[in-house]
Amino acid sequence: MRSEKGRLFRIANKSSRRGALRIASKMRPVVRLPRREREASGVGGLSAFPSWLVVGLAFILLFAGCGGNAAVPLHQESKQVLVAASIPPIADMVRQVGGERVEVLTMVPPGASPHTYEPTPEQMRRLAAARILFLNGVGLEFWADKAVQAVGNPDLQVVVLSEGMPLLQSSEHAAGNPHLWLSPRRAMKYVKRIRDALIAADPEGEAAYRANAAAYLQQLRQLDADIRAAVATFHSREMVTFHAAWAYFIHDYGLHQAAVLETTPGREPSAAEVAQIVETIKRVGAPAVFAEPQFPPRAARVIAEEAGVPVLTLDPLGGTPPRETYIKLMRWNLEQLQKGLGGQP
Ligand SMILES: [Zn+2]
Repeated sequence: MRSEKGRLFRIANKSSRRGALRIASKMRPVVRLPRREREASGVGGLSAFPSWLVVGLAFILLFAGCGGNAAVPLHQESKQVLVAASIPPIADMVRQVGGERVEVLTMVPPGASPHTYEPTPEQMRRLAAARILFLNGVGLEFWADKAVQAVGNPDLQVVVLSEGMPLLQSSEHAAGNPHLWLSPRRAMKYVKRIRDALIAADPEGEAAYRANAAAYLQQLRQLDADIRAAVATFHSREMVTFHAAWAYFIHDYGLHQAAVLETTPGREPSAAEVAQIVETIKRVGAPAVFAEPQFPPRAARVIAEEAGVPVLTLDPLGGTPPRETYIKLMRWNLEQLQKGLGGQP
């Protein structure tokens, strides 16, 4: 798998190199004197010029070197295509396919819940300069319509990655269960849509986008195979999760959702619900309760204690080390599932 750090380092290197070249090319016409004058006037040839011109040249050099850099935002200067993505896993998929040609603005920051997020003024300012906004859809980005209207950017294309894909029902969202990205099989469809949208927005990058997407899809096929192999070794298939985020994963990899702790975002289970979940855990023999890092684990701890099982964590979003990429996130989650459901690592 391609190293995230290595890639970021290369981008940083490349843009600073580009910056240096740009400054050099701006300086050249200013300092280069006709050969005759260079030879006649000694050091730098500047003594042949009146002092006001020397001072003027110094100012031009100063602004060519520094002023330009400070005034121009990075994404314009580096000629990268600025695209926005709603959540960290989608932002990572866009980075994997876009490579060095795109700069990705992540809307819902790592650690935040997409169910309660609002865009910041700075994000709105940057969205006004973006070419594409990649959304998951199915009601996850309840803020998106308002944000897109408010920025009034006629070049902004909104791409809903789940559009037209079959959905599972959800108590959380009337439109259906939005968490399709957590099944790598469905994430592969997202990646193909990201590839096609980037090609449409930036046709010059087509070869790069196709090559990046092909390499990344190969990694996702490997991830899919590894999950299937791991699940085959699980001693239990009974999943008790914080909310219904794992419905597609459970469906696609042959597990079973025994219970969900929080059926409505932001509402903790009632005493009656807690008792019922504890009873279910004991009845089906679910070996663990899976909490989420984006929510307080209080309810999960209470239920696990009463049922006499451990609390583990499944992360639907990631975005920070060691889960900064989608593939790292899913491999980390697979390790948690192995710990909880008794599989061989
Ligand atoms: Zn959710």
